[in-house]
Amino acid sequence: MSKRELNNGPLIRDEKETVSKMIALYCHKKHHQDDLCEECADLKNYCLERLSYCRFGEQKSACSNCSVHCYQPKYREKIKRVMRYSGMWMLLYHPVYSVKHLLKR
Ligand SMILES: [Zn+2]
Repeated sequence: MSKRELNNGPLIRDEKETVSKMIALYCHKKHHQDDLCEECADLKNYCLERLSYCRFGEQKSACSNCSVHCYQPKYREKIKRVMRYSGMWMLLYHPVYSVKHLLKR
């Protein structure tokens, strides 16, 4: 049995960076934290892990558009809230292609 390689391609790395930024922004604005609060740190770890194990790897589409619901419901609700909130800010201040990718439908 060989251990499955974790995703580490440019798309996955980029999405990890974007999701980290979005959670940091959300926590800063909503929870008024400089560093991530415990809840947001937990969500971030979870999201990064999901990306590492995403079965589509570099071929993945936007998570919101994916047919495989790999998120547990409680985390799915949380990240949806983060995306909705931080998405607007990111488009205004960090107009990077990865955000468009995350939000595409
Ligand atoms: Zn927080």
